Amino acid sequence: MLAAMPDSALSPLSAGGPALRDSGDACPGTLRLHRADDGALARVRVPGGVLSADRADALLAAAGRFGDSELHLTSRGNVQLRGLDAECGGGLAELLTAAGLLPSAAHERARNIVASPLAGLDGSPPVSGWLSGLDGLVCGSAAAASLSGRFLFALDDGRGDVDALGADVTLIAAGDSCLLRIGASDEVFRVPGGEGPRAALLAAEAFLRAARESGAWRVKDLPDGVRADLVRTVGAGAGPAVHRPRPRTATPPAPGAHASASAISVDVPLGRLTSSQWRLLTETARRYGNELRLTPWRGIVVPGPFAHDEAVEALRALDAAGLITAPDSPWTGVGACIGRPGCAKSLSDVRAEAGAAVGPVGRLPVYWSGCERRCGHPHGEWIDVVATPDGHRISHVRGERRDPRTTVPTVRNGAPARLAAAVAEARAL
Ligand code: SF4
Repeated sequence: MLAAMPDSALSPLSAGGPALRDSGDACPGTLRLHRADDGALARVRVPGGVLSADRADALLAAAGRFGDSELHLTSRGNVQLRGLDAECGGGLAELLTAAGLLPSAAHERARNIVASPLAGLDGSPPVSGWLSGLDGLVCGSAAAASLSGRFLFALDDGRGDVDALGADVTLIAAGDSCLLRIGASDEVFRVPGGEGPRAALLAAEAFLRAARESGAWRVKDLPDGVRADLVRTVGAGAGPAVHRPRPRTATPPAPGAHASASAISVDVPLGRLTSSQWRLLTETARRYGNELRLTPWRGIVVPGPFAHDEAVEALRALDAAGLITAPDSPWTGVGACIGRPGCAKSLSDVRAEAGAAVGPVGRLPVYWSGCERRCGHPHGEWIDVVATPDGHRISHVRGERRDPRTTVPTVRNGAPARLAAAVAEARAL
């Protein structure tokens, strides 16, 4: 049985300290396709996860015309298209540009912005003004074009959900003002609400100057002293400092109806949507708020308003289409990387294994990875299942650190029932 340990006793999830980079990151985009075993892959940035129904149609058209027809949600609320023809880049860019999904070719990989998916829908303040403001500022900044594809902005409506995701620059709503957080610093700076997007951009530009020597891609990769200087520098140009530790764990929107049917939300098994599921979501959005919000937890919020019966009916149809519409679904909290056969690095077909091990809903989310890179893993507290040459290693992770006393011994290959039982036990911790 895994037992909780103090943070000081946990070991880093990935080996190594601050990263020294001597080359650009290889993060895919829409203009830089990544070659995978199942064809080329494009990652389309969707700032805040917000898509109009028309833009959702355009993504579906792109997936059908150039790829495998499916849409894959990422842990940043973006969309990946897979199985693409390696030569499709020009046609794909043309289609996405026409739909408004590629406003600046130079900044396409820098538009990494997550936002609280229920902002403005359940009594919390909207962050849509910050979102359009920040996206416009990023696309207008020559410096921001050199941000790594891994650099992340978060816009939190005050509930702490995306604040917990470990972004590089976070804005948190706080009445008429907002709080600006750099990396994981517990010291945040109060900024007038209307100035939040500009403060966030200035912080990102300050990061780029601070990272010149190390070539760091993210705030957490800066050497400790440089990172502390960055926080001081940004703070000097912002408002007064406030002590506010970053939340350890995020609470994603629960599947179902929210706040008097102001919105409904679904989770997507393993983040993979067929064309008919995507079409149904888009048609539902078009009938109500004309918007989809892709969440960083591989779910989708459909803003209303809905009448009570309409919400029930819409959820019933989405459930029948295979989406998760209630928190007690066995798929709730289960995630996996693409694994075999899509990724050459994978040691196993982790999606199939995750599906075979689906069981009772656990307290903790579980994420299955085909190798130690753990692409797209969750944040906060979760159960890590990694394929190794011998079998699967199961660990309890809190905040990028792993409990070294993995008391579940590696479950050897060829024992699926034992593997499922060990995962269920770890999730119940
Ligand atoms: S975690 Fe490993 S196996 Fe999974 S997609 Fe990433 S590189 Fe491939």
